[in-house]
Amino acid sequence: MKFTELGLNESLLKAVKEQGYTEPTPIQAKAIPLVIEGKDVLAAAQTGTGKTAGFTLPLLERLSQSKPPMKKKQIRVLVLTPTRELAAQVADSIATYGKYMSYRSMVIFGGVGINPQFAAIKKGVDIVIATPGRLLDIASQDGIDFSAVETLVLDEADRMLDMGFIHDIKKLMAMMPKHKQTLLFSATFSKEIKTLAAGLLKDPVLVEVARENSTAGKISQVVYPVDKSRKRELLAQLIKTNDWKQVLVFTRTKHGANKVCKQLEEYSGIKAAAIHGNKSQGARTKALADFKEGRVQVLVATDIAARGIDIDQLPHVVNFELPNVPEDYVHRIGRTGRAGMAGEAVSLVCIDEHDLLKAIERFTKSSIKKVDLEAFRPDPSIEAEPIQNGRGGGKRGGGQRNGNRNGNGGRSNSRNKKPSKNKPANAKPENDRTPTEKKKKPRNPHAEKIGSNLQAKLDKLDKKSSRRR
Ligand code: AMP
Repeated sequence: MKFTELGLNESLLKAVKEQGYTEPTPIQAKAIPLVIEGKDVLAAAQTGTGKTAGFTLPLLERLSQSKPPMKKKQIRVLVLTPTRELAAQVADSIATYGKYMSYRSMVIFGGVGINPQFAAIKKGVDIVIATPGRLLDIASQDGIDFSAVETLVLDEADRMLDMGFIHDIKKLMAMMPKHKQTLLFSATFSKEIKTLAAGLLKDPVLVEVARENSTAGKISQVVYPVDKSRKRELLAQLIKTNDWKQVLVFTRTKHGANKVCKQLEEYSGIKAAAIHGNKSQGARTKALADFKEGRVQVLVATDIAARGIDIDQLPHVVNFELPNVPEDYVHRIGRTGRAGMAGEAVSLVCIDEHDLLKAIERFTKSSIKKVDLEAFRPDPSIEAEPIQNGRGGGKRGGGQRNGNRNGNGGRSNSRNKKPSKNKPANAKPENDRTPTEKKKKPRNPHAEKIGSNLQAKLDKLDKKSSRRR
């Protein structure tokens, strides 16, 4: 398939060519013609698949075919994203592909002054890329008019719900015109996403792509078993001995991100910056720019802040701590090995995280290579403890483990040393879910409301997306 076969105009093709793209990615090949045709699209796609161009290119094509709105404050295209960073990246993508076209676009997000945003909308804008909170703020002050919206995009819808935007999204949706095209992109399909999709999309075409075999093939994954207290030391050693120039490090918490960053700088002289929700927009933008341009070697991020970060050819991702949710592992390692490039994903796993690792391996249906570093071999006398502070931590990890913990949130702050039992962490039964529990996987209770057609599509997608990973 060639870009020239997708129905894009010459200006867009020229811009694409300048990017050096030789052919559309699978999601682009599927989605671009559908979006140009005006169909509603429900897409199961993660970052790294080329999905951004998959919707920005046809949106620009459609804009070139329609007339600008008559009234001020009216916009034609609205893209909602979970984070400011992703909004900025979608805007960059629109600027890149639309450079030979005439249109006006702007980003709207919180953390910066609202008045310039009111003023810019008043001047006239075609495309708005926004995070839900600030947009709702502006809309409720009559600062924007959605009545001429032709296309609405919800990018990374699963993340928007994870971040608690559902109420803002619902309020915004109620302001949208009835007749419009809606595109919904999501990497996962929870009950909530299905309900959202069911309420928003009209007879959608389902588009799904596996993360170009690149996840499995081009990203090499490795686990280093190590004690929690020695992770920082191991990370510094890996960076130094392998001469890693650009490393994205994930922690579970904002506090953890700050701590790792500080320790890398103080103890190892490695330039690092942290990026998370408590940082001001200015600090986040600067950290990302410094990282992209090589002024800092390590960017330490939480899952949410890193969401959607698109850095060409990011070579190394380190899970300083494993995520509580296996899907997040897939998202994290997807920061490397993008668009076919090779990448390396390293996980530093302490005894507390063995259950999380198992859950990830089950979810990805793969066994991740473990590398035993003699100098960092875990102390076998250390006992696992429940993981604290993480999203969903109470549900997982701590659950029904054996040993002297009750698993229901009983917390202990000091490291327990094991008497001298048989070996480590996973002494609990292999299966922490009984077969009956497995069977209990709920059918969507909203099935009747959704309508059998869409419900069938969503169920199919659900099955495939879990099979895929
Ligand atoms: P995305 O999934 O939208 O975050 O895109 C991931 C990366 O793929 C970005 O760095 C894009 O610049 C790049 N990309 C998008 N489309 C193509 C293409 N057709 N060929 C090569 N790279 C692409």
